[in-house]
Amino acid sequence: MPITFLFLAARMLDGIWIESIRYFAGAAGVALLCWLLASRIAHRRIQTRRATTADRLREVRQSLWSMTVFAFVDLITVVLIAIGAIAFNQGPPVLTTILWQTALLIVMHDAYFYWMHRWMHHKTMFRVLHSVHHLSRTPTSWAAYSFATGEAAFEAVIVPLMIAVVSVVAPAEPWAVFIFLGHQIARNAFGHAGFELAWPGFTRSPWTGWLTTTTHHDLHHSEGRYNFGLYFTWWDRWLGTEHPRYHERFAAVVNRHRETAAESVSVHGAVSP
Ligand SMILES: [Zn+2]
Ligand SMILES: [Zn+2]
Repeated sequence: MPITFLFLAARMLDGIWIESIRYFAGAAGVALLCWLLASRIAHRRIQTRRATTADRLREVRQSLWSMTVFAFVDLITVVLIAIGAIAFNQGPPVLTTILWQTALLIVMHDAYFYWMHRWMHHKTMFRVLHSVHHLSRTPTSWAAYSFATGEAAFEAVIVPLMIAVVSVVAPAEPWAVFIFLGHQIARNAFGHAGFELAWPGFTRSPWTGWLTTTTHHDLHHSEGRYNFGLYFTWWDRWLGTEHPRYHERFAAVVNRHRETAAESVSVHGAVSP
């Protein structure tokens, strides 16, 4: 099919629709889960400050704008497919290819995000690119795509490039891209949820400590200078940017008893043991 203006406009509308389904499934799904579990997870609230309705509305409004930017950037994928730079598997799905491509997409995205995120925290970049996301001092799952225009573009542009990379080895599996994007919004929405749902010992265990938690990203929103990672704790540990009291803050939240939760909250919004 030739790449005409009408063709690209139709693909962009498709993109906005697909991005919206993904965002609302993730952000609303996590918000609904927290609401349903409210009485059981109240003591797992990470900050004392409560996000307001105005905070949530700002996060949704900004996320809607980001999805428009994402859909525009997604046109790169459409063009790369049209010129043959990305090949998708048209035949039956191949399980081994789905597995390695999903894993590679996640690991590449995590590395890209860490470095892009640190760059956006440089004082010359922060105000224009990243300050909008940090308006959420007490984030909610609706903040998943709450980005300024420039940040939204940088967040999205890596996806077609990563698909092009994996399709050099074998045609990209649609299921690998679907699972990668589903994992992305799920981890993103949980990372902003404001409640810690992981179990005691999670951050120090060799089995789970390499995964980020909600406390990990929440500390980034409340204090800013640490915890730039997305899915894994590797880069923050290798580069010395993990919050020095991360384990302590996490343990304080998950070891809090329901009835003492209200008394043990510190002035900084995190919780003391
Ligand atoms: Zn940041
Ligand atoms: Zn965030």
